[in-house]
Formats: sequence, structure tokens, C-alpha cells
Amino acid sequence: MAKIIDGKAIATNLNGQLQSEVAALSFVPGLAVVLVGDDPASQVYVRGKIKACEKVGIKSFEHRLPANATQDDIAACIDALNADENVNGILLQLPLPQGLNAKPLIQRISPEKDVDGLTHVNMGRLMAGDEGLRPCTPSGCEILLKEEFDSLAGKIAVVIGRSELFGKPMAQILLQNDCTVFQCHSKTKNLASLCKQADIVIAAVGRPEMVKADWVKEGAFVIDVGINRTAAGKLVGDVDFNAVAAKADYITPVPGGVGPMTIAMLLQNTVLAAKRQNQAPKI
Ligand code: NAP
Repeated sequence: MAKIIDGKAIATNLNGQLQSEVAALSFVPGLAVVLVGDDPASQVYVRGKIKACEKVGIKSFEHRLPANATQDDIAACIDALNADENVNGILLQLPLPQGLNAKPLIQRISPEKDVDGLTHVNMGRLMAGDEGLRPCTPSGCEILLKEEFDSLAGKIAVVIGRSELFGKPMAQILLQNDCTVFQCHSKTKNLASLCKQADIVIAAVGRPEMVKADWVKEGAFVIDVGINRTAAGKLVGDVDFNAVAAKADYITPVPGGVGPMTIAMLLQNTVLAAKRQNQAPKI
């Protein structure tokens, strides 16, 4: 039976350390969250992020725009936050209501305040192996792996999914940890047999319980990023949890695995951004 990775406990521990770090700062880090429209899931996520900020001593600024806000309205809000000295991090909650184009709005966020790590500048820094702000969910998964393994060098990793938010940066982070990485997607052939070779399987697809026990080799580390609701309203991941747990050595649950780590990394990125913005200029 696999060890069930307690992402909630690891995140709580990280948040506790961050709280002490924030208390010792001479300034208060600030995170602005921009929420457009009234998508119920987004409202829940935003509430969770704001609550987490309060706990560690980060000041949060919530900016709610109506569902009929225009591209220009959101751009103006981002411009104002870019210029606001009290705001060190800006998060545009996705998805935006239909008809709006998130891409140019994300690129409008100042790279130094881009705590989601989605601007081209930060994506480029990640590709180049340079310091920047890295996307929260893949960074959280990296920490979960490093909690168990001193080194990831030489491990075969399969990342299922190639989104800019998760799959692509996750593969890049694993590559930088000297893994051999298969980046899989909807056109990948023989996905099950690729997974079967992997020491690390990370599923980020959005398909309930897609990864089956016979896809996974004994002893694998399986990270489930997916968040899905079944017809009965139950929250499940992309991995057939009970069957895979009987075979793997490590597995993350849904909920309580990757999700809390995403929020913990958002807080870390906000404090990192605030520290960089408050650094005395080098002479
Ligand atoms: P996304 O943008 O929809 O990407 C899904 C990816 O899965 C795409 O690359 C797609 O391939 C691939 N895919 C779809 N069907 C497939 C199949 N049958 N076989 C193999 N690959 C397939 O989603 P995302 O934003 O990356 O998120 C993925 C999941 O993770 C969602 O459930 C989301 O809610 C969850 N998530 C959770 C957190 C968290 O904090 N826990 C954070 C982010 C995301 P193509 O590129 O070929 O279309």
C-alpha cells in the first residue's frame, strides 16, 4: 500500500515557517486578487486564497469586476495594480467569463508581480533555469517529490497534460532536476505503456480516475493534479486512487494533496516578490 502524501500537512508546515518570516519583515507583503464575474468555483478558490494570506500576515486586496466587464476594464485594473506600491503580487483568477481573452491580460501583469508565473518573462526565466516567479502548482509538486527523494536525477517521469499553467512548467522543472521526461497529451499514443515505465507519474488532465492501476509500475510515485466532480458530486482526481494506491509506493490524494500546496506556493511567491521589490537598490 502506498504512502499517502499529506499535502495539507506539508503546506501547513510551510505556511507556518512563512508566517514567522513575514512577521520579521519591515514591510507587509500584499497580494491583489482580480475576480471577474460570479463563477461559484472561482469564488471558493479566491476565498481560500484570501484566508490563507490572512493567516500568514500577507495583506490581500480583492478586486471584483462584473461578468460584463470589458477587456479594457480588466486591463485598467491590472495597470493600476502594477503601479500600486502596496501590491507585490497580482493574481488574475481564471477562467474568465466567456468572450474575454485571458492571454493578453496575463501578459499585462508586471513580471515582478506575476505570482502565478505565467508571463512570458517568467516562463522564459524558467526555461533558461534563471531565477523568477514559477507557477505555483508545479512548484508545489516539486516540493512533494523532494520531501521523499534526496535526488530526482535519472528518474523517468511522465507528465500527462501540456497546459501552460501546469504541464509544460512541470516537465521543465523535472528536467531541471535531471529527470528523463515524457510530456504526454491527448494525441500521445500508448499512454498506458509510457506510464508503466515511469518512476514518477503526474496526471493533470481533468478526466476522472483516468490513470488505472495497470498503467502504473510497482513502486511509482503518483501525483494527482486533477480536480473533477462526479455525477454524484464527489470530488475525485485523475487517478483511480484506491487501485493505484495498492500498487504505487507514494500517491497524493484528492483533495488534500496538490491543492493545498498550490496555495502555499502562491504565498511563497508573494513574499518572494515582495522581498525583491523592497530590496535596497544595488549601488
Ligand atoms: P487543461 O489546460 O485543460 O489541459 C489538460 C491537458 O490534458 C491537455 O494538455 C490535454 O491535451 C491533456 N489531455 C486531455 N485528454 C487527454 C487524454 N485522453 N490523454 C492524455 N492527455 C489528455 O488543464 P490544466 O489547467 O492543465 O488542468 C488539468 C487538471 O488539473 C484539471 O482537472 C484542473 O482542475 C487541475 N488543476 C489542479 C490544480 C490544483 O491546484 N490542484 C491546479 C491546476 C490545475 P491537449 O493539449 O492535446 O489538448
